[in-house]
Amino acid sequence: MNQRILISGASIAGLTVAHWLARYGFRPTVVERAPGLRAGGNGVDVRDHAVAVAERMGIMPSIRAAATDVQGMKFVDAADRTVARLDTAGASEVEIMRGDLVALLHRATGAGVEYLFGDSIRGLAQDDDGVTVTFDHAGSRRFDLVIGADGMHSNVRRLAFGPESQFLRYKDHYFAFANADAALGENRWVTMYNQPGKMAGVYRSGNHAQAKAYFIFRSGPLRYDVRDVEQHKRLVSQVFGRDISWQIQELLAGALADPDFYFDALSQVHMPSWSTGRVGLVGDAAACASPASGAGAELALVGAYRLAGELASASGDHRVAFAQYQESHRDLVHKKQQIGPNVRLMVPKTHGGRWIRDGAAWLPILRAMTAAERLLRVKAPRALPEYVSAI
Ligand SMILES: Cc1cc2nc3c(=O)[nH]c(=O)nc-3n(C[C@H](O)[C@H](O)[C@H](O)COP(=O)(O)OP(=O)(O)OC[C@H]3O[C@@H](n4cnc5c(N)ncnc54)[C@H](O)[C@@H]3O)c2cc1C
Repeated sequence: MNQRILISGASIAGLTVAHWLARYGFRPTVVERAPGLRAGGNGVDVRDHAVAVAERMGIMPSIRAAATDVQGMKFVDAADRTVARLDTAGASEVEIMRGDLVALLHRATGAGVEYLFGDSIRGLAQDDDGVTVTFDHAGSRRFDLVIGADGMHSNVRRLAFGPESQFLRYKDHYFAFANADAALGENRWVTMYNQPGKMAGVYRSGNHAQAKAYFIFRSGPLRYDVRDVEQHKRLVSQVFGRDISWQIQELLAGALADPDFYFDALSQVHMPSWSTGRVGLVGDAAACASPASGAGAELALVGAYRLAGELASASGDHRVAFAQYQESHRDLVHKKQQIGPNVRLMVPKTHGGRWIRDGAAWLPILRAMTAAERLLRVKAPRALPEYVSAI
């Protein structure tokens, strides 16, 4: 039952669900809009149940081998003098560059997965027996099920559930990640420079040649095309382009030259249901918690594992599997969407807020908060089941 499954998006959620579906005996096809895997992004955390998923996929040793070695965050003034340091080493099980994780997941999907790069779903028509899918480039095809793993601005969600404005909750900030000149910043630290409502930073892992630039700014909602990278670059330039303090201009120059420049609103996705008929959603498409949660990779890995596992143990019956998947995964999503004061700590609104943050970073209080968060995480909401394929 329901053997042919189309997955939209070849990133963390899409590749993980493809791996597990193929392993359980389904026939997954992955369609990715980009011409190849998207390697951009900074470090992402693999923690808690996500470690178990990666272990069961056999990639955890490779993830550990490729891990970054960042020690923590430091805040600097305009003269690049360190005003506060916050050691976060050990806060996550493993931090890995997003592009490295995507490459490992792709390798782990093996030969049982068909890929359509450089294409996108144009239309979905469901009936009792399956879904007729039209593409921008490939000819129309029939699938039994369609899974949207195509990120916060999911195309599958738009086609099957309606406009994204119903589901996105904007959190008052925009952010950009891109390549940076590796000579900037301090080795093994994330260096951040703040002005009221703005942050520019550089992420430098000691065992990676490439440094990464961060830009975050506070703003009301902006109107722009989510797919137009040149427009994204212009928006970031408007905010940071005339600012000659610290190393902002050097960071900006590297970022603007990066073709995989990544810009988005800091938003979350909240949906009452992650499925409609034969279409299901996973990862950011279903329940983005935002980069401020530090949990995007974890939610994508664990959600994808559960979705594929539920389909396998229900012999492909999507009505049973989609309901079980949502029931088993929603507690973790709910917990990770409580992002607390993370953004306010990284981007204080005022000079006073920055001063308080820098003072607090020297005190044990923030370290204690990190340790408490770790302790809470040990009480994982539910054990991660081992699924047995019934197909
Ligand atoms: C280039 C890039 C850099 C990122 N950098 C960071 C980072 O530094 N820190 C962080 O916390 N998070 C980052 N993220 C987001 C992070 O990957 C996700 O929050 C999280 O890992 C969940 O992953 P996901 O697979 O659900 O979604 P995403 O990682 O967003 O992947 C969605 C995938 O779907 C593809 N896609 C989009 N539209 C279509 C379409 N119409 N048809 C087919 N495919 C489509 C995209 O190209 C992408 O490959 C980045 C995402 C991308 C794509």
